[in-house]
Amino acid sequence: MIEKSLAQPAHQSTTRIERGRDLYTEHADEIRFDEVDKVWLVPSQHEATSVYEVALGRRGESCECADFEYRGESCKHIVAATLARAKSTTCSCCGKRVPWKFVTEVQEDDGLLSWFPGDVLCSDCVCGGFWA
Ligand SMILES: [Zn+2]
Ligand SMILES: [Zn+2]
Repeated sequence: MIEKSLAQPAHQSTTRIERGRDLYTEHADEIRFDEVDKVWLVPSQHEATSVYEVALGRRGESCECADFEYRGESCKHIVAATLARAKSTTCSCCGKRVPWKFVTEVQEDDGLLSWFPGDVLCSDCVCGGFWA
């Protein structure tokens, strides 16, 4: 018999969170972090050509979409960007934001000169020979 999880979903805005999760699931590979403007670029779920700029700053979150503008609450793009941020990290070498699944974490027994255990390197840096 499987016990029910104790974690119950929050009651408020469950649908927006679910839509954000769907958006993330469907477009995870297209969500990018703009290093220059420090914003997340989240594609629109329905129009392939639209991209929303989402800011996840210390002063709060914001999105360009009408939903956020009118309600001032976290929209699905903010939810998707928050997920993308949680599932990505910064490469210890080039400083680019990369999804965790595409980085290699330096292990204690790798014996590398330039990196400490726990440093993470993106595939570009690993393949580019910075892994030494
Ligand atoms: Zn939005
Ligand atoms: Zn890198």
